Amino acid sequence: MIPFNIPPFVGKELDYMKQAVEAKKICGDGSFTKKCHDLLEKQTGCGKVLLTTSCSHALEMASLLTNIQPGDEVIMPSYTFVSTANAFVLRGAVVVFVDIRPDTMNIDENLIEAAITPKTKAIVPVHYAGVGCEMDKIMEIAKKYNLLVVEDAAQGVMAYYKGRALGTIGDVGCYSFHETKNYSMGEGGAVLVNNAEMYERSEIIREKGTNRSRFLRGQIDKYTWVEVGSSYLPSDMNAAYLYAQLEMASEINENRLASWKKYYDGFAPLEAEGLAERPFIPDECSHNAHMFYLKVRNIEQRSELISYLKDKGISAVFHYVPLHSAEAGLKFGRFHGEDKYTTKESERLLRLPMYYGLTDKDIDYVIENIKGFFGK
Ligand SMILES: *Cc1c(COP(=O)(O)O)cnc(C)c1O
Repeated sequence: MIPFNIPPFVGKELDYMKQAVEAKKICGDGSFTKKCHDLLEKQTGCGKVLLTTSCSHALEMASLLTNIQPGDEVIMPSYTFVSTANAFVLRGAVVVFVDIRPDTMNIDENLIEAAITPKTKAIVPVHYAGVGCEMDKIMEIAKKYNLLVVEDAAQGVMAYYKGRALGTIGDVGCYSFHETKNYSMGEGGAVLVNNAEMYERSEIIREKGTNRSRFLRGQIDKYTWVEVGSSYLPSDMNAAYLYAQLEMASEINENRLASWKKYYDGFAPLEAEGLAERPFIPDECSHNAHMFYLKVRNIEQRSELISYLKDKGISAVFHYVPLHSAEAGLKFGRFHGEDKYTTKESERLLRLPMYYGLTDKDIDYVIENIKGFFGK
């Protein structure tokens, strides 16, 4: 059986967790959390990275940091995970969905401007599969209309747009370290604060609305409740687990990229014959092999392929029922413009097994069987 995902594990995780336990400092912001912050700040060039309990929570922090108020509108793609929308809906925002580009499955930057109204407060690009959105254009629109930009870079750790780390281009970026992502701590994430004016508030929001971080640095002699916040900081045991993987980030990334390339080359004949499409990576993007997918003819063919592969012991999956057609999406959002690609392309997309340590033998087996399905 070839599973769809195996959570990354590099070997040092348990040793580091043991160290965290022995240091008798297992709550948040212990030494491993600080090590992760330093490493991520160095790797991304972001001035302030803070670990969170999930990317969902990093997004919630972002919606607090951007001061989203009831009735504000937030523009995002409909082809995304529910957390992208929930974070803003929790603050009373209306979500305005726009269509995606069929090539990258990212928000179509050319459709954003028409969706802007006087109530629009923020744009939330989602870097699908670790492939960057067209950020130059998005930042230009944000500047023109005085909007904030929150990057959902849950899938974008170690990926770049024009040499800039995903998550560091907008005002706030959000990473996920869930077990299905490239680097994991079980459940976890990080918020990347790019706007220096938000540094202090980000610490306050993450520490239950208190100025405890300043207190811990000795800048004040007692800490108090200063604004609305929550508990968004993870246990240092989880940070220890993550740190082992972040230390090996390049190795994990290269391993995934090699698997991705093997799939990509292996499926070239199918694409040449018009039987399936491979992912597209724009020149300005360097991705992280978060995902390898194929697009087949339609939803019926995809269902057939999934069960065909299941019989061969291969787990292939799809995801994201477009949010605008979901029960909550109908209630909390609206789709601006025509759904030309969101539904159609999402129904054709099939994700193949992809994880750190996936063997060449297994990749060959997957390619062979998919070719077999198409009679090749
Ligand atoms: C995984 C994911 C999230 C949520 O991440 P969690 O860490 O599980 O909260 C949000 N957005 C996108 C695009 C994701 O892929």
